[in-house]
Amino acid sequence: MTIQKMKGTEDILPQNSYKWQFVEDSARAVFDTYQFKEIRTPMFEAYELFSRSVGDTTDIVSKEMYDFKDKGDRRLALRPEGTAPVVRSYVENKLFGPEHPQPLKVYYMGPMFRYERPQAGRQRQFNQIGIEVFGSTNPATDAEGIALAWDFLQELGLEKLSIQLNSLGRPEARAAYRQALVEYFTPLQEQLSADSQRRLTDNPLRIIDSKDPKDKELAKNAPIILDFLSEESKQHFEQVQAMLTALDIPFEINPTIVRGLDYYQDTIFEIVVEDETIGSQSTVCGGGRYDGLVEQLGGPQAPGFGFGMGVERLMLLLEDQEVEIPAEEPVDVYVMGLGEASNIMALQIVQAARSEGYLADRDYMGRSMKSQFKTAAKLNAKLIMTVGDNEVEQQVVQVKNQENGKKSTVKLSEVLDDFVGVYRRATVDTSEIDKYFGGEF
Ligand code: ATP
Ligand code: MG
Repeated sequence: MTIQKMKGTEDILPQNSYKWQFVEDSARAVFDTYQFKEIRTPMFEAYELFSRSVGDTTDIVSKEMYDFKDKGDRRLALRPEGTAPVVRSYVENKLFGPEHPQPLKVYYMGPMFRYERPQAGRQRQFNQIGIEVFGSTNPATDAEGIALAWDFLQELGLEKLSIQLNSLGRPEARAAYRQALVEYFTPLQEQLSADSQRRLTDNPLRIIDSKDPKDKELAKNAPIILDFLSEESKQHFEQVQAMLTALDIPFEINPTIVRGLDYYQDTIFEIVVEDETIGSQSTVCGGGRYDGLVEQLGGPQAPGFGFGMGVERLMLLLEDQEVEIPAEEPVDVYVMGLGEASNIMALQIVQAARSEGYLADRDYMGRSMKSQFKTAAKLNAKLIMTVGDNEVEQQVVQVKNQENGKKSTVKLSEVLDDFVGVYRRATVDTSEIDKYFGGEF
């Protein structure tokens, strides 16, 4: 029996990888304009990193994490998310030091791992693109982070998205809110879903963003966090909103957004798809402020802000909204070889082209002329260079411009020594000159 990919994983195949590169290149271009630098952290970390930051009672740590003992008896986890590893690296490498730009702005892209029930837009290995900013409490940092996510999604050409904004306040406000939720839900306990009954003692905030329809109904009249915010938190939240408005970035206040990770406080946001185009997996981006996390992981008091985007969900959206993704570039030169003797010459020519930066390919299978022409057409080759027994004997190459059909015979030495010159002469548009000289040129 052949071995198959593990449940919840996907191969990104060669005919599709250009779409992923388009998304990643677009992200890098936008991140550059905001002056974010890339950070790459390991795919596995100490189990404790996530239990201490994301939180023991969260679904991510309690149910979804790939954790195991390695051969040295260390307890590890494949990273389920990007923020905790980046914070760990920030602390370990002292990126808060004066020799680093402050605030420190970084981005990451790469696979994350969660043991979930696979469905459209939900995998066990999935990819995230995310950012983190350390060292600024300025609400402009929150607004900029949200603007960055928004810009990127606009840049990709996606529509029908909305920004859902909320504030979780500081730990004191959350504690009071938590208490209020327990008081509100306890009499309703029996009617809650099994998951939410467990959350009532573990993590009552998560009842608020439960996807269970009955939970949703029961949560409608629950207290909202915004009524518990301190004066300071309120002001921060108002400034973030004023800034987004000043930037013409649309958003909605949504008190039911609470995020699944323990480390958030104050501003949190999600970017969601307005209709159900990607199934019930409508959130493409989630993030917020986490001012206590760096300290919690043994670093200095350094505020943070970040978001993570699910790339698989972006890909589904791009497809659903029929966004045109620039196709791969046509090949500049296709080298056709006829007869065994041509093998070396074809190799020399294709290498000469490549060394000058041209996109070049050749035939390797000794196929018929007809099928080689077919391949050249499929690759949209601009130029075809052909070598057969005659050409080998005379040390020449037949050159054909596929756009205008013009043919010429060029010395092999010229092709190898001056590929650029040969290519230019063969592809130059001579129609204007022909007109001027009456075709005598
Ligand atoms: P959800 O509520 O959909 O489970 P989440 O709150 O667990 O999402 P986050 O931890 O905030 O998700 O991760 C940020 C983004 O990563 C999500 O908005 C989503 O786009 C993506 N994401 C999360 N889990 C998965 C997964 N299993 N497969 C694909 N994408 C995912
Ligand atoms: Mg989840």
